[in-house]
Amino acid sequence: MHLLLIEDERKLAAFLKHALEEESYSVDVAYDGETGLTMAQQRVYDAIILDIMLPKLDGFAVLSRLRTQGDTTPVIVLTARGTPEERVMGLDLGADDYLPKPFHLEELLARLRSVLRRSSPEKAIRLQCGDLILDTRVRVAYRSGKEIPLTPREYALLEYLMRHKNQTLSRSLILYHVWSDIGVDSNIVDVYIKRLREKLQLPNSPPLIQTVRGSGYRLRDPASPLPPPPPEPQAP
Ligand code: CA
Repeated sequence: MHLLLIEDERKLAAFLKHALEEESYSVDVAYDGETGLTMAQQRVYDAIILDIMLPKLDGFAVLSRLRTQGDTTPVIVLTARGTPEERVMGLDLGADDYLPKPFHLEELLARLRSVLRRSSPEKAIRLQCGDLILDTRVRVAYRSGKEIPLTPREYALLEYLMRHKNQTLSRSLILYHVWSDIGVDSNIVDVYIKRLREKLQLPNSPPLIQTVRGSGYRLRDPASPLPPPPPEPQAP
């Protein structure tokens, strides 16, 4: 799950980014409305957390432009100005939820889960690959009915692989979706893949995560055939 946080209070932004990453979300941060709007227009986020009092372009203007452009990404509005009129204004402009500051982190997490659930019914709650099952609501993995203890980052990596099972995913793609930070060494992908393999491995079961030489990794569902390879380029 990829989030955009638009918040000019640096300390709060840093705290929220860290806390959300602990919950396995990937988080991009913008510190003013203009940058935030540009980022929201340039890529697809699962949800946006939007402060109202922002330099350059306030949160209401960001929200209104996004909605005018047909962007339906769920938006949770954060604001210190918690008057009922403003709440109504935010909701009228198309905010999905509204959280007055100061708020408890747990409250934000709960509302985030709620807007994500509402916005993406097509996103499976239960992902399956052979005898490996992921319950994405509670973020728990099972293999052959046995729970596999995973760190939040291992979980995020596994969920990403499972949502794209049978596809070859390059290290840079994995890095981008699971770590979001540029500047992380791509070796970290190999380290985490190795850990996941060890945790997922069962005696007498085929390995699920395959290395595709020169390309990356693939989570292979033993039950479904691989898609056909792309056609060979034809000589003129
Ligand atoms: Ca602010």
